[in-house]
Amino acid sequence: MQNADQESWSRVRERLRADVGDDVYSSWFARMDLEALEEGTVRLSVPTRFLKSWIQSHYAERVLACWQAHDAKVGRIELIVRSAVLRNAVPAKPRPEAAPAAVNGHGDAGRYNGHGRPIMPGDANIHEALGGSPLDPRLNFDSFVVGRSNTLAQAAAKQVATAKRTDPVMFNPLYIHAGVGLGKTHLLQAITWAGNATGERKVLYLTAEKFMYGFVSAIRTQTALAFKESLRGIGVLVIDDLQFLQGKSTQAEFCHTLNALIDAGRQVVIASDRPPSDLESLDDRVRSRLAGGLVVEMGGLGEELRFEILKARVMAARGHHPTFDVPQPVLSYIAKTVTHNGRDLEGALNRLLAHSKLTGHTVTLEMAEREVRDLIRPQEPKRVKIEDIQRVVARQYNVSRSDLLSSRRTANVVRPRQVAMYLAKTLTLRSLPEIGRRFGGRDHTTVLHAVRKIEGLVGNDVALAEEIEGLKRQLQE
Ligand code: ADP
Ligand code: MG
Repeated sequence: MQNADQESWSRVRERLRADVGDDVYSSWFARMDLEALEEGTVRLSVPTRFLKSWIQSHYAERVLACWQAHDAKVGRIELIVRSAVLRNAVPAKPRPEAAPAAVNGHGDAGRYNGHGRPIMPGDANIHEALGGSPLDPRLNFDSFVVGRSNTLAQAAAKQVATAKRTDPVMFNPLYIHAGVGLGKTHLLQAITWAGNATGERKVLYLTAEKFMYGFVSAIRTQTALAFKESLRGIGVLVIDDLQFLQGKSTQAEFCHTLNALIDAGRQVVIASDRPPSDLESLDDRVRSRLAGGLVVEMGGLGEELRFEILKARVMAARGHHPTFDVPQPVLSYIAKTVTHNGRDLEGALNRLLAHSKLTGHTVTLEMAEREVRDLIRPQEPKRVKIEDIQRVVARQYNVSRSDLLSSRRTANVVRPRQVAMYLAKTLTLRSLPEIGRRFGGRDHTTVLHAVRKIEGLVGNDVALAEEIEGLKRQLQE
């Protein structure tokens, strides 16, 4: 086989990965190899029969479409099981075969955009022509379950998606933050589908990565005028995972784009895993611009919401697998025990689906207990904010928060300040320079000194160690 073919394959893989998402990709396609490409037929191999039949029945069309997008001459995909003996390949990472992390479980029931019109293939084309990131049609408003933790975010998202071109912009930017797997991407893509379906305003969805490597470079090759012109076409700019935006010049472009859009009355929507104040590397002006719109946090999925999400997922999966059923006690069990996030819920159901398909057994509580065991994790530690640390420490030591941030060096504030910095380092993912900035603009070496100091002390000072444990408990409850 020619090198060029392998190169095509790696392009197609990337497309596929972007198309189905990392989880699905690594569950099903990571060990797929190109064997041959002849006369419009692509022969791909996978290591097991199970993988072959699963991919055949669930993803054959997608794989073909990805090839065709790259090479229009490809007309057919052939899947084969490669035998382990014929190759002395390096053993792949062990991956439990019957325990896929994610499969297409939403089904056709979700392929509507909340405006009564089915999602058209063309919608995605318009979007991609603008340089947008790939969208998953299953992530729409209809499949988004609303509960206590996300009511406000969903309402704001809906408002943005349905606003008319001539409506005044109500909040700009709309900034949604939440931990991993709590529905940010789902909501953002729902806005994109629904917004583009109305034809009122063009919605462009970009991951921060895409913004950095696609959008920004496109902008750079244009004149300032052409840039303004191309922004004019965008009614709503949606940026996902803003925490990944890196680099000084990218940020300058981001700031520029943000200002240009907001000033022109265009809507900007942003999702991130942290509030604007915690976006370390952004400069203050951008941060305050981001905080100047509507900032909404989505909390963890409560048990009730998890149950509803599971129920909706089962309904959707039944579109593809009519015999699949999960009794209510099993749903309750999963909702109660798999508390981590939406991705694990999806993973749990996918395992039950795969298991019941493969063995032909109906889903029972016992099966569920066995299959989801490793998804039951201890409660994820709460996201601790630096402000909370400062507040709790100040209260504990009877000083004010501004004392902690001040440059005063009296003993009664120096120690609490060091404790607070130590907690900031151990309970958050913030860098030393960032912590320094949040403590009245101190140098990172000062923070490092404080962290080392407290680390040294807790080893010998039982009382201090207990005090710090107490503070940690308060902050993580
Ligand atoms: P994030 O982008 O916040 O990390 P995602 O939007 O990717 O999270 O959500 C992870 C998974 O959980 C997705 O499969 C998503 O559809 C599902 N999910 C999260 N919240 C909800 C919800 N409220 N209703 C339905 N599905 C949800
Ligand atoms: Mg996401």
